Amino acid sequence: MKMYFLSTGFGHVAKGLFVQGAGMKSVRFPLLSVLIERANDLVLFDTGIGTRIEEEMRPPIYWGNLFFHRFVMRTRFNPQHDALVHQLSRLGFTPADVKNVIISHLHWDHAGGMRDFPHAHFFVGRREWDFACNLSKGALFKNAFIKEQFCGADLDIELIETDPCKPFKNFPASYDLFGGGSMVMIDLPGHSPGLMGLYITMPSGRRFLFSADAFYFPEGLEHRMPKSKLMQSLVSEGMEASSSINRVYELMKSEPELEIVGSHDYRVPGRYDLAPKFYT
Ligand SMILES: [Zn+2]
Repeated sequence: MKMYFLSTGFGHVAKGLFVQGAGMKSVRFPLLSVLIERANDLVLFDTGIGTRIEEEMRPPIYWGNLFFHRFVMRTRFNPQHDALVHQLSRLGFTPADVKNVIISHLHWDHAGGMRDFPHAHFFVGRREWDFACNLSKGALFKNAFIKEQFCGADLDIELIETDPCKPFKNFPASYDLFGGGSMVMIDLPGHSPGLMGLYITMPSGRRFLFSADAFYFPEGLEHRMPKSKLMQSLVSEGMEASSSINRVYELMKSEPELEIVGSHDYRVPGRYDLAPKFYT
């Protein structure tokens, strides 16, 4: 098993926007996806920003996202270079090699590339799907979803739910994606209603938790610092966010060797290099 970190562009924020009270220093952060190369296929965790982003943000109901993209996250992204389909080809893969795609949550900077993988099988949390697909126009303006990235896109989407009969570590329920326990989904609701994290046990014994946007920057976990109030309201973050962080924090304390990686961890690249470097 090989694991690659890919970033579909970078954003730039005042640190205090993503971590309450952390000041105005500008921090560059990635928009991470993880590519897992198994013996016979590729699995992707999140699709980042995709090739269609400019047209997707054009309708007025998405100008909230456009504002967020240009002036809040100040995302720098070149669809012709940074979209995952282009990054994969530079690694010698084709989009059709990606058989399974796991979506942590459906915000535009995570679901943006879904339609670039029309032949893949997608795993999406049922709670996230039901919430995002039922949003009306006003709610779409102020939430970080772009419905057209996933709804009505004729994709092969499997809606998943964690099973309370399968507690996992300190989580009350889990969903084992492929059997065998090497890739397990857990619930981390709050940042979005159905956000899920992926816990991977590599054949080497190395273990990762990809926690997506449960927290943005490492301080959000290590010091359990919430996002700024402005940020919480911009993405309509729910009350469950702090209990999700607490649960990840407890897990971190009980498994010090577990590598916990958020999707916008400013230590990447650095803590990990981006592809073509890979980890086993
Ligand atoms: Zn995000």
